[in-house]
Amino acid sequence: MVVCKKCVSRLSRYRKVLLRFKDLGFVKVFSDTVGDATGVSSAQVRKDFSLFGIAGNKRGGYNIDTLLDKMQIILGKDQVHGVIVIGVGNIGRALIQYKGFEKEGIAIVAGFDINPAKINPKAQVPVFSIKNMKAFIKNKQIEIAILSVPERAAQEICHKLVDAGIVGILNFAPIRLQAPEHVEINTVNLQVELENLIYFTKIMKKK
Ligand code: ATP
Repeated sequence: MVVCKKCVSRLSRYRKVLLRFKDLGFVKVFSDTVGDATGVSSAQVRKDFSLFGIAGNKRGGYNIDTLLDKMQIILGKDQVHGVIVIGVGNIGRALIQYKGFEKEGIAIVAGFDINPAKINPKAQVPVFSIKNMKAFIKNKQIEIAILSVPERAAQEICHKLVDAGIVGILNFAPIRLQAPEHVEINTVNLQVELENLIYFTKIMKKK
């Protein structure tokens, strides 16, 4: 099933609020409750749920456990995804050290760097030489990589990642990466995001 990115991101948001409702002891929810908590219209919530084959009924609403089970499978959270980090600089290291991914079924299994000073195969999350990257990806069948190398190195590493079998890249380099169509690239441009925020906060002040 091919689903739009926005829809998947809404699904993640629904999942977060459903987990909260479950923690509070709720068994069932209505689409308008989920909508209110996520800032999405109830019609959109119902549309999204039905797109994923999740049925509810008008009287009783949706069973939270059923919703969570389905979302778990759709979002691939029923299995642990091994992810690698390329470029263990400030951003790469911060991501490797961040503990919050584990509960979401994401495990950063290794880092790779060109700088010998960064290499540490004995660390809890080992950091290997970039020369070992291709073999590691193939052996461990890694599909997702986080790219946190400088801009000048990003495109070349991207080619190498794709060549080794990577199909999803979270890119922190401020560059539009070229890759074959089957490869999904999400770019996080922190500078653009901040500039955007500064611009809009200025506008809000003027109002
Ligand atoms: P630092 O404080 O370590 O310099 P940084 O985030 O400011 O961090 P960057 O110059 O952005 O440093 O580089 C990020 C990381 O990417 C560094 O650890 C660097 O060694 C690594 N790196 C640079 N080029 C490559 C490459 N071609 N392959 C793999 N890693 C690379």
